[in-house]
Amino acid sequence: MKKYNFNAGPSILPREVIENTAKQCLDFNGSGLSLMEISHRAKDFQPVVDEAVALIKELLQIPEGYSVLFLGGGASLEFCMVPYNFLIKKAAYLNTGTWSKKAIKEAKLFGEVVEVASSAESNFTYIPKGWSCPTDVDYLHVTTNNTIFGTEIRTDLDVPVPMIADMSSDIFSRPVDVSKYDCIYAGAQKNLAMAGVTLVIVKDEKLGRAPRQIPTMLDYRTHVEKGSMFNTPPVVPIYCALETLRWLKNNGGLEAMDKLAHERAEILYGEIDRNKLFRGTVKEEDRSLMNICFVMNDEYAELEKPFLEYAMSKGMVGIKGHRSVGGFRASCYNAQTIEGVNALVQCMKEFEASH
Ligand code: PLP
Repeated sequence: MKKYNFNAGPSILPREVIENTAKQCLDFNGSGLSLMEISHRAKDFQPVVDEAVALIKELLQIPEGYSVLFLGGGASLEFCMVPYNFLIKKAAYLNTGTWSKKAIKEAKLFGEVVEVASSAESNFTYIPKGWSCPTDVDYLHVTTNNTIFGTEIRTDLDVPVPMIADMSSDIFSRPVDVSKYDCIYAGAQKNLAMAGVTLVIVKDEKLGRAPRQIPTMLDYRTHVEKGSMFNTPPVVPIYCALETLRWLKNNGGLEAMDKLAHERAEILYGEIDRNKLFRGTVKEEDRSLMNICFVMNDEYAELEKPFLEYAMSKGMVGIKGHRSVGGFRASCYNAQTIEGVNALVQCMKEFEASH
């Protein structure tokens, strides 16, 4: 039976990305060695990094003065590297859920943190509006897509200070005005590659200003100076990222991804709103196009498990909601097809008809 992958991450990747990466894992560039066996300093590997960086700069239209890094440690390590490197005295954070909270916790180790707004009181079902950002902070940190709660800030906010963004679960799904950010970071395992590498984009002139000693590996300057090769980088995930970046370019770039994201979301939210069994969990204007969260309507609450089982029997994978929200979460990253979304909608319609 055909499987439709709605996992929140690690998650769906384009089939050709997986196949091309697998081929190189068997025989890298005809060398007779696996990609897993070569040195990151092999002459064939540097072009992989160079092409990946060039494609990221091209796709995101990154202005001059920024460096693109491939690091280890996941987005979680960036929660501490960001304040280590960028927090001089005071930073502002927008609290929109689990990942923001983790970022805030680390920032507090390095200086004063102002929480500009939070939607905690409603279990993060919306993106706070109407708040103002202090002008005396070093940066405002935002989580652009809240993977767990299914809310998204799908624009680059206008604030009087530079932003730093965790874009782990919506990077490359829309064009971004990088000039508004001092740093953007993203774990690869949603829209970019297999797990194991973190993409970090930093504004060079903002490095080296924090009044503290930074351990070598946690100092962005180390990785800028060494072109992400200070220590052994995760070679296979970086190669996988390159394949995804080529796929992104060949499939119309970020404008095309944005259009597709809207199309998928319209189909699925349309069915959630129409179907008598289900309701969305998030305020309509803040609904994520990447992680679509929904629950059974109260009168059908007992049908949650049966629906999950039915959907699984039809090939749906990974639609169980996160425990903080319950219900269902259908993650629709770039590689998710309209066919996949329609298959889920079909399940929802069939299940409604039989209840
Ligand atoms: N930030 C967001 C928005 C995420 O969705 C995740 C993981 O799902 C993380 C951070 C943590 O990423 P990692 O597991 O790469 O540390």
